[in-house]
Amino acid sequence: MHCPHCSSTATKERSDRTAHGYRRFRCQECGRGFNERTGSLLNRLQLPSDVVFLIVLWRLRFKLSLRDLAEILLLRGLVFSHEAVRDWETKLAPLPCPAPATQGQDRPQLVRG
Ligand SMILES: [Zn+2]
Repeated sequence: MHCPHCSSTATKERSDRTAHGYRRFRCQECGRGFNERTGSLLNRLQLPSDVVFLIVLWRLRFKLSLRDLAEILLLRGLVFSHEAVRDWETKLAPLPCPAPATQGQDRPQLVRG
């Protein structure tokens, strides 16, 4: 495992795991600790990565509202706000947008999901 802080490969896996069960490591070069999600878009999220991906998939595929998703998963004991769903969607599923228009050309059309 590469250290996300100094890119060293001299890392050692620790015996304990994070609260969500991710493997933890210690860099032998810089001495800093990290886990499997350190440095990724999903670092420091309050839910496991697979749950966040599932929520964003349901949002995009089934067009569920932000509040519906929070309410549905509350039934399974997962507590998060509809704003959290919006943040996850923004991070994981950004809308493709056209290249900026150059002078003298038509304005680009806004892509809507
Ligand atoms: Zn390091």
